[in-house]
Amino acid sequence: MFEILVNEDLTDMSEGELDKIFVAHEEGIKRFLGRIPLGCIYATFLAGLYVEMEKIVGRAAKGLIVNASKNRGKVAGMAIRKRYEKKYGKMDEDRVKMVARNMLTVWGKCFGWGKMNFKINDSEFILEVEDSLESTGFIKLKVKREQPACWMLLGYTWGLLEGLFNSKFVGDEVECRASGGSICRFVFRTE
Ligand SMILES: [Zn+2]
Repeated sequence: MFEILVNEDLTDMSEGELDKIFVAHEEGIKRFLGRIPLGCIYATFLAGLYVEMEKIVGRAAKGLIVNASKNRGKVAGMAIRKRYEKKYGKMDEDRVKMVARNMLTVWGKCFGWGKMNFKINDSEFILEVEDSLESTGFIKLKVKREQPACWMLLGYTWGLLEGLFNSKFVGDEVECRASGGSICRFVFRTE
């Protein structure tokens, strides 16, 4: 499974094909890559959790969620890079970009986080997401956000890029369905 994740472009694979390759189903327990337990969550549960958290800690909620997600994304990115380099030697830039795209494709199609479209040019990494899980949660709750609100996806993608590239990025969600946009758009640049 890991070999497919790091060696093949998964962008055009269907949800069914990806699920068959990457998610093991064992009597109610799902495992990504055969070992990482997964669970589904209601979009409204996730958005509701952010709303409740904001009631307690105010505007610090965003920083808490984004930073925690970034740290976890970074752990995932670093683990993939280290495992790859142990087996195949140094990961070149094109490979890193493909693996980042593959991970987001899996998040989108297997984990249900929205339809992901990842554009990469020389200096920017742009992730566009249709129907992002977090924004859908706010829309379903009828909670209109003043600012972009897909904090977990922002943090995770940011950390994943930092872990895979082994360098610092700056990132933000610049358009979000939860705050009136037509799509969720995230932009990351090397620092
Ligand atoms: Zn969003």
